[in-house]
Formats: sequence, C-alpha cells, structure tokens
Amino acid sequence: MNRVYNFSAGPSMLPLPVLERAASEMVSYGESGMSVMEMSHRSPDYETIINATETLLRKLMNIPDNYKVLFLQGGASTQFAAVPLNLIKRTGKADYIVSGQFSGKAFKEAQKLGYDVKCIATSKEDNFDHVPVVTKDMIRPDAAYLHICFNNTIYGTKYPYIPDTGDIPLVADMSSCIISEPVDVSKFGVIYAGAQKNMAPAGLTLVIVREDLLDYAEEKMPTMLEWKTMAENGSMYNTPPCYTIYIAKLVYEWILGLGGLDVMKEMNVKKANLLYDYLDSQEYYIAPVQKESRSMMNVTFVTGDADLDKKFASEAAKAGLKNLKGHRSVGGMRASIYNAMPYDGVVALVEFMKEFAKNNPKK
Ligand SMILES: *Cc1c(COP(=O)(O)O)cnc(C)c1O
Repeated sequence: MNRVYNFSAGPSMLPLPVLERAASEMVSYGESGMSVMEMSHRSPDYETIINATETLLRKLMNIPDNYKVLFLQGGASTQFAAVPLNLIKRTGKADYIVSGQFSGKAFKEAQKLGYDVKCIATSKEDNFDHVPVVTKDMIRPDAAYLHICFNNTIYGTKYPYIPDTGDIPLVADMSSCIISEPVDVSKFGVIYAGAQKNMAPAGLTLVIVREDLLDYAEEKMPTMLEWKTMAENGSMYNTPPCYTIYIAKLVYEWILGLGGLDVMKEMNVKKANLLYDYLDSQEYYIAPVQKESRSMMNVTFVTGDADLDKKFASEAAKAGLKNLKGHRSVGGMRASIYNAMPYDGVVALVEFMKEFAKNNPKK
C-alpha cells in the first residue's frame, strides 16, 4: 500500500484507521450479511447506525438538547438557498458578511430569491486576506439572521472569535472547520457543513439548528429543503446518504478515541504552527493572509512567481505531496491540513519547501 500525503481542500484525506475499519466491514457489516451500502435505511441495523452517529456527534461537539441535528444531501451550496427559505420569514430581511467565495455565493443566492439581504461587511477590496471585524451595531436590528462563513477554504482565513450578534441568530457555514476544534454551539442559531472537507466522503450535509428556528419556513417551501420536515422525520423523510453517514460515524469514533475535540485542536494547532512558523521564518514564500485571520485548516502561500508556483505543485506531487495547487480562482499554493493529515505530512511539506527554495533561486 502506498498512501500519499493528500493536501486536497475537499474531498480530502480521511483517517487511515477509518478507511481500514470501513474496508474490514465493507462486504458484511456485523451480523447483517450485507454491506451498509446495501441496507434498507429503515432496517434496524441502519437505524442503529444513524442514531449512534447523531449521539456521537452530540457528544463530540457538546450540542445542547434544544438543537436538532440533520443529515442531509445537496452539499453546503444547497444550504445557501435553504438558509433564507427557512429563516427569513422571521423578520423579512437578513444580513451577510462576505469574506470569500462561498459567503459571496450564499449572499447571491439569497439575493436571487428576491429577499431583502444586505452585505454589511466584506474584505473583497483586500483580496479577502482577512475576515472583516463584526460588531453588533453593524447588524440591522431587525435582521432575521446574520450569515457568516467561519473558515474561508479558498483564501485560508478564519474568524478568530465568534461574532456577538446579541439576539440575532448567527448562521455559520463551517464546511472546512467543523470538528477541528471545540466550538460553543449555543452561540449559533444554525451551523451547516458539507461533510467532504473534514468529516466524511462527499454526499452528506450536516445542519445543526436551534429548535425555535424551525417555525419560519416559506409556505411554498420545497419539502426537501425544509429543516422542520427533516427534523420531524429524523433525517429520513427520504433516503439519507446512508453510507456517508456511516463513515462520519467512524470518523466521530476515531476523534473520540483520541480524546475528543480538545485533543484534536491540540494536534491541529501543532500542525498549523509548524507550517506558519516556517513561513514566518523565511522570505522565499509569502503567506498572504493577515496573521490574526489565519486558518488552522487551509494554509495559503505563494512564491510571487506564477511559473515557480506551478513548478512547486508539480514537483511536490512527484514527491508524494499531492494537491498543493491553490484554488483555480486565486492561484499559488494551498495546503489543506484537516484532522486526518498526520503531523508527519506537514513535516514532509516543510522539508520539501526548504529544498525547493534552495534549488529554485528567484531571478
Ligand atoms: C466546499 C465548501 C462549500 C461548498 O460545498 P459543497 O458541499 O460542494 O456544496 C461551501 N462552503 C465552504 C466553506 C466550503 O469549504
């Protein structure tokens, strides 16, 4: 077996013990005589799996009892529409912070639906090199919610704090930072995340929603987008993404086995510090993100020369360090170092960076 260090932003690395466990149970799960992929979602075996998945996630994230956990499909991008469709009726308007591409898409989607939505802050004019500062007085007092993207996958930025929105529900896209560290769920009205960055393969979208926010859905709401329907049916209004949920369960077990999110955070901080400390110690590579907005999950850097950047990504791939090319819209390099990336993978990356800098002097 020859596994590489895969720095892809998503779908991304999964923990090896999870893949091995899944492989060992692939053909026949427990005493069932069939693969989880082949099970009816209404079977007792599968019910045990989905219920355990929710219980484990609640434990892992310390999710309060007045929050529903939904296992949905359609990706985080579907939630860009689902959020206003489920919430805006509360007051008729909503505010957004645009801190990168995905929050921009979320804002545009709400606009497209014809709603009164306002972008109250953006870092666009600074190439999204930081997250805007958010204070309560910036938010319209009658906004139904404030939407943010907590970790900006493409630019490599993250909120260093949870914005204080007072009584206004805070809605956060956490696709690329979910379960990377403890967060106080009670500070949010809604948290959502596509699973394929830090939780599971593609196909699962997690929504965590405070119960009192389930009563504002539009009349003509498509059933599949209505959180309340999904909550009332235990995410089984229709067929859920069964196998992906099962893998998420194995991932949650893996993290709990390591000691939970405090330990996970310690490991992630150690990895991110190794890379950022190196970036700060030299002048060959430039880290464009302002220090206080640095993401622990997605680390961006450039050489300042597009040809060298290209050479870097291709030589790194040959050395077993895959998918370091930055997002197609921004170029440069991006190392996504999610939970499953071992510390040794970051060590190998830093060693490669030093070698590359030595062998490719700038003109
Ligand atoms: C990847 C990503 C998305 C898009 O997720 P899909 O599941 O592909 O729709 C949205 N938001 C953030 C922060 C992401 O990282």
